[in-house]
Amino acid sequence: MERSALESDIQYLPGVGPKRAELLRKELGINTFGDLIRLYPFRYIDRSSIVPVREIRPDMAFIQIRARVIARELYGATGLVSSDVPGSAAGSTGIGMTDDGRVHEACSGDAVKGKKPESGNEIRFNTVKRMRVTVEDGSGRIELVFFKGIKWMYGKLEPGREFIFFGKPTVFNGLVNMVHPEVDNLPEDGGSRMEKGRGAETEGKGARQDAGLTMTGVYPSTEKLKNGGITGRVMNRMQEHALNACLPEIEETLPVWLMKEKGLVPLAFALKNIHFPKDAQSLERAKYRLKFEELLFLQLSLLKQKYIHSRDAHGILMPRVGEAFNRCYDALPFPLTGAQKRVITEIRNDMKSGHQMNRLLQGDVGSGKTMVAVLTALIAVGNGYQACIMAPTEVLAQQHFKNISRYLEPAGVRTALLTGSSRTAERREIHAGLEDGSIGIIVGTHALIEDDVLFRNLGLAIVDEQHRFGVEQRAKLWRKSTCGMPPHVLVMTATPIPRTLAMTLYGDLDVSVIDELPPGRKPVQTIHATESRRAGLYRFMRDQIAAGRQVFVVYPLIFESEKMDYKNLENGYEQIVKAFPFPPYRTAIVHGKQSNEDKKFNMDAFAAGRADILVATSVIEVGVDVPNASVMVIESAERFGLSQLHQLRGRVGRGSEKSYCVLMTGQKLSKESKHRIQLMCSTENGFELAEEDMKMRGPGDLEGTQQSGLPISLNIASLARDGLILNEARGCAEEILAGDPGLTGENNRLLAKELGKDKYNIRDYSKIS
Ligand code: ADP
Ligand code: MG
Repeated sequence: MERSALESDIQYLPGVGPKRAELLRKELGINTFGDLIRLYPFRYIDRSSIVPVREIRPDMAFIQIRARVIARELYGATGLVSSDVPGSAAGSTGIGMTDDGRVHEACSGDAVKGKKPESGNEIRFNTVKRMRVTVEDGSGRIELVFFKGIKWMYGKLEPGREFIFFGKPTVFNGLVNMVHPEVDNLPEDGGSRMEKGRGAETEGKGARQDAGLTMTGVYPSTEKLKNGGITGRVMNRMQEHALNACLPEIEETLPVWLMKEKGLVPLAFALKNIHFPKDAQSLERAKYRLKFEELLFLQLSLLKQKYIHSRDAHGILMPRVGEAFNRCYDALPFPLTGAQKRVITEIRNDMKSGHQMNRLLQGDVGSGKTMVAVLTALIAVGNGYQACIMAPTEVLAQQHFKNISRYLEPAGVRTALLTGSSRTAERREIHAGLEDGSIGIIVGTHALIEDDVLFRNLGLAIVDEQHRFGVEQRAKLWRKSTCGMPPHVLVMTATPIPRTLAMTLYGDLDVSVIDELPPGRKPVQTIHATESRRAGLYRFMRDQIAAGRQVFVVYPLIFESEKMDYKNLENGYEQIVKAFPFPPYRTAIVHGKQSNEDKKFNMDAFAAGRADILVATSVIEVGVDVPNASVMVIESAERFGLSQLHQLRGRVGRGSEKSYCVLMTGQKLSKESKHRIQLMCSTENGFELAEEDMKMRGPGDLEGTQQSGLPISLNIASLARDGLILNEARGCAEEILAGDPGLTGENNRLLAKELGKDKYNIRDYSKIS
């Protein structure tokens, strides 16, 4: 049987062996040649440009210099053991060194600390811990530092010889140096930087492209890999060997018609050029092809799943709108926005379709999702079913219940609140009401999914702020169904993410978007301030309070340093109380360590206007609705993520008064923090912020949980950065499946084959959403 190169054990790749193979397995999950060539560079370095030493700055990425060795110093555990640093007079003319590898007697006694000079072949390299090499290029000098492979490097870096050094500048003791740069001999013809002879046996058809090559791939690496000798250079060589072995076996995964239609290069070309780009254009085409392919198969697998689900998952038929809905609708204190109406229509169509609804409702903070939830719940009730609305925290559940009850009054539906702190008697009564069906709508927290909560006929589950709920919890909710069919599911989130991305992240959920705020909302003015302006801030707060407004002051709560966070909160509270003494000022405090009663007491006091200031941790992040609050002060704002800041800001600007958000930060900010703060000050558009957030942190973080990540891992495409390709791939996948849902046509044979692979065997997400 012919051995497949793609499936060959990585240890048999030239230069690897069992030890390095183990490292590759552990660190990068690479088992075979085929795995290796699917490890793509995340960056490329232009090897053609040479930076003058004088122009090196510590914040530069990888650079290349061409410089002459002046001196080498070897250090042992206790200090300098050998040096060929010439006397100060010899300063810039280090070329006078002997070329035989012997170490000169040092001229500067200082530098040697009286050590007896040793000759090169007497140096006991096993005691040498570090080598410092000074090089110079006519514009300046820089030191290179080596901790490993010193003996070999020492032999190579003879004073007077010139090399190309390639590495990343770093700062040590205030001086710029390079640690473990790669060392290249000078090109003989000044053309290609690659060492002659390498890859010669594969000339012509080999992986490495011809002499015009100037771009070198940089691969993901770890400390362990580097220590194990798998440097960037070694990785490049490994890729070259693996590609040469595998390229003849590469089978195209996309049909010709598709490649033609989308202008995609063949897989073999793409693989070759992603590792060893012939030129910038080939690299771009290679990247596009690989990203498109990855996203296409992702979309195809998601859509197939969705197709199977919509065919199989019968849902409760709810053909009516119902009395309750109409009574509530007629009594609404305001007309619905266009977006709210559209979304309700989408939901209604799902519920009367006979298929199970699995819908994600996205809407920025304050866009009026609660109203939609209420009307949706009433549709279920109007069809003779019960509905539950789950909130992630006790405070939110209470708030929801309060608001919802207000809207629901005219509908005449029995509604209840069930949380962890519901008293036993009350709880018993609620359980009974749910079982006999007299309670139509139940609002609550996780308490709703406890095993002892039974419904007579749960027909709809609404989950607010979905990312706070684990997959497990949602699965439990799903099992609450008693009529043999799963309840319809509406997931609401205030995290605005681009549509295609949402459809990708949430598997087969349908997506509705409320992209319009209720009228009359005034923009929130956002201001960045540091400690020096605190007195001014307090004056401003006093003015607002004097005008009858209320103020939020929020402190970060990050669990790794919970103790410190609470310390900050306590100090902050004391500071506020000192600056705003009672009377006349009334300050309430809410945080996660309080009992639910205390929390509720303080929240209620603020909501009812009995407190002017609410000092809180990010507990209040979601949902809290106090229209009279006009100022949101966020302390240590640099410690919050963009979406969190946006959520917090959404707590103000809900009333008729002009509102403000003040972001307090330290004096010194990282580049990223500065960017975040600037963005917050420049836009209120949640979508814009979410996209930026994703660029900075990736969708995993944005999601707030890893569990609802992607069904397959992406190797090269990024959901955050490749939105356009994602849309293109989505459209393409939809078209293909519309014409050939089972991918049984000859035209789509290759697609079906690829999709049949194990890695696309995704879980059925509908069961857990
Ligand atoms: P979300 O949950 O999406 O953040 P809410 O449902 O809490 O937003 O609504 C925010 C505020 O807007 C509430 O005070 C609500 O009463 C009000 N509201 C909702 N819909 C409308 C509308 N169509 N017109 C005017 N105000 C509305
Ligand atoms: Mg809400």
